[in-house]
Amino acid sequence: MTTSAPRRFEDKVVLITGASSGIGEATARAFAAEGANVFLVARRADKGESVASSIRDAGGSAVFHQADMAQRLQIADMVKACVEQFGGLDIAFNNAGIDGVFGLHTTEHPEDVWDELLAINLTGVWMCMRHEIPEMLRQGGGSIINMASMAGVKGFPGSSGYAASKFGVVGITKAAALEFAPQGIRVNAVCPAVIRSDMAERVFGTEDAEKEATAAAWHPIGRIGEASEVADVVLWLASDQASFVTAETIKIDGGLGA
Ligand code: NAD
Repeated sequence: MTTSAPRRFEDKVVLITGASSGIGEATARAFAAEGANVFLVARRADKGESVASSIRDAGGSAVFHQADMAQRLQIADMVKACVEQFGGLDIAFNNAGIDGVFGLHTTEHPEDVWDELLAINLTGVWMCMRHEIPEMLRQGGGSIINMASMAGVKGFPGSSGYAASKFGVVGITKAAALEFAPQGIRVNAVCPAVIRSDMAERVFGTEDAEKEATAAAWHPIGRIGEASEVADVVLWLASDQASFVTAETIKIDGGLGA
């Protein structure tokens, strides 16, 4: 007997921010493989266009849209463009984010980096929800997944700006989930530990085998995670299989936070 891959998102419209690389890219590919129309958003047009076109080459439906999550008007335009393109919005993965600085104490954290972290990682997610939720209300429901981090549920020294932004994401996820649960909009957050990506390379140097081994040892499971392992959880949260799950923050951390 041949088994075919599930197509849980046939004709669903999925907006993904930060889709030009890493976790966002892996998630875009996974949604497209299950039949979704994927609206990819990022700042880097060349990378974003190339991810979208490779999804189309593989038979998927994907469009790239350039927007900066630090620019509120661009976020409003992004949601409008998605609805114009695909006729609605069923699922949003608000994933775009930056690392800022790691390793500096709270007393030394640069003010401009703090402001940028909050603008992109927290205010950006808030603005996304501000514009996504009205579209979802118009069509009678939807599912939002916000990107937090293990640094959004657990303290790590030397990360106060990033922590502020990601703890904030967990907070606004719960608030919005409770506000819109009666109208059929589920809002959840994912909290990965170290996941192989450009960001992990920048922060932890994971392309170097020795540094990767150091990072791997922080996780009881004995390795760092892969972007596809985050995508799997995001797709589950977005699917009907998670229909009774909202206001949740799911750790994807190989046991690190236990
Ligand atoms: P990445 O650097 O590969 O991806 C980040 C994505 O966000 C890129 O597509 C980038 O272009 C985009 N982006 C950044 N600033 C943007 C802006 N102002 N406007 C639009 N797009 C912007 O790294 P990643 O690991 O895939 O990161 C994705 C998310 O996962 C981030 O929010 C990050 O904080 C979070 N995260 C990552 C890890 C990890 O270890 N990799 C762990 C926990 C959480």
